[in-house]
This record gives sequence, C-alpha cells and structure tokens, in this order.
Amino acid sequence: MSLQIGVITLFEPMFAALTELGITGRALRQGLWHLHNFNPRDEVTDNYRRVDDRPYGGGPGMVMLAEPLTRSVQRARAQLGSQARVIAMSPQGLPLTHDKVITLSQSAPLIIVCGRYEGMDQRFIESQVDEQISVGDFVVSGGELPAMMLIDAIVRCLPGALNDEQSAEQDSFANGLLDCPHYSRPPVFEGREVPEVLQSGNHALIEEWRRNESLRATLLNRPELIDVARRAGRLSAADERFLASLSGV
Ligand code: SAH
Repeated sequence: MSLQIGVITLFEPMFAALTELGITGRALRQGLWHLHNFNPRDEVTDNYRRVDDRPYGGGPGMVMLAEPLTRSVQRARAQLGSQARVIAMSPQGLPLTHDKVITLSQSAPLIIVCGRYEGMDQRFIESQVDEQISVGDFVVSGGELPAMMLIDAIVRCLPGALNDEQSAEQDSFANGLLDCPHYSRPPVFEGREVPEVLQSGNHALIEEWRRNESLRATLLNRPELIDVARRAGRLSAADERFLASLSGV
C-alpha cells in the first residue's frame, strides 16, 4: 500500500525536487508513496487571495491566517482520510529523530503544514495540528525544506525504496550509532590507502571493523549517543571492550 502524504504549502513547485529526483522520485514512480498538494491560496476568494496579515500586537512580519490553513487541512482530510495525522513544521516542535521517522513511516496518511512569514496563527495550531516537528535549533524561511527533509527521511524507510535493503539498516542512527567510514576505488588516493581489512575479503573481519569504526566515530563525534545505546542494551561485551581500548589511549 502506498503512503499518502498531503502537503499544505504556498510553494508547491519546491516539492518537484522530491517527486522527480533521486530515491524519492524513483519511489514515487514505483507507487510507494503519493504526494497531494494543497495551497491555502485556493481556499480564499477575495480579490487579493490573501493568506497572511499583520500580527495582533504589532511588530515585524506577517502571520499565516487561520482560516485558509484550516480549510486546507479539511480539504486534505477529506481526500486522505480523517485518520490522517496533521504535522506542522515549526521550530517549536521536538527535533526530528530516526525513531520518529520510523514511526511516521508506519503510520496513517500524513498531512504536513508548511509555515511562511512569522509563522501560523496559534488558533490554527491548537485546533488542527496533532504535532509540531522541528528540523533543528535554527530558523529557515519556510516549512517547505523542513517538510522535504521529513518526507525524504520517511520515504527512504519504505520497504523497496532503496535498491539494497541493507543500506538503510547500515545508515547512521539505524542501530543508534553513526555509520562507519566508506571507501571506493582507487585503493590509494593522494597517498591515503583503503584500510587493508576491507580489501581482505574476510567478511567476519570486515563486519567487526565496521562495527568498531562505527563505535569510534560515534564516541568521537556524538559521545552522548554511546550512553543512549548503552542504556538501551545495544552494546555487546565486544563493543564495550573496543570502547574501553579507545578511551585507554
Ligand atoms: N517566527 C518563527 C519562525 C518562522 S519561519 C519562529 O521564530 O519560531 C517560517 C516557517 O518556517 C515556520 O512557520 C516553519 O514552518 C518553518 N521553519 C523555520 N524553521 C524551522 C525549523 N527549524 N524546523 C521546522 N520548520 C521550520
């Protein structure tokens, strides 16, 4: 069954990057997911087709009006089903994680709302939105790029989206750790050699090397993830021995 994703946006053409290119484009053509666009401007009938106005209380910028957004969500729900989950992209949300992506990839249809200007009228968020999601502690000009990141991450988790199922399993965060380094030809580049073990053909040794390098990268770059993996019981005795050998140096 294909995953139905509705997007509420004033900038529909941006999503061509997802629907036409790369893994997400191929997955769309394979019928693994479908994108439905809803433009709040289609919901307003006045001459200016106004979707934003000045904020109460004064100050800079404009606010996206509650009514066109609400009507867009209603239209999307009518098309995708009332069980659809409504997500607003916002710096107010919890930062997106791998676990969240997995959950959303297995859930009901999604309706993703992209803000612009200073954001959306709070009453719309309170009445229509199930959950706000952030892509990090910084601000971009609109919810489209954050929504595209979310959709891309979800789509690559759908069974069949990646050519080699394994590559999703080996990606960073899939097992709670960062990915190991990767190498391709030539065997020597600017004097730097591909680690010998990777050229050995010994699969058990290669697997052990990859696991260890994954642990090393995580300890070096994101040490807090090691603690999380440890608490979740995801580290073996061999992992702990390797980590101990690192901190001993
Ligand atoms: N005034 C708002 C920022 C508005 S930016 C604030 O300070 O919080 C305009 C829109 O871009 C937002 O409504 C949201 O949809 C999107 N956006 C900006 N940064 C984001 C982030 N880190 N994560 C998710 N969406 C973001």
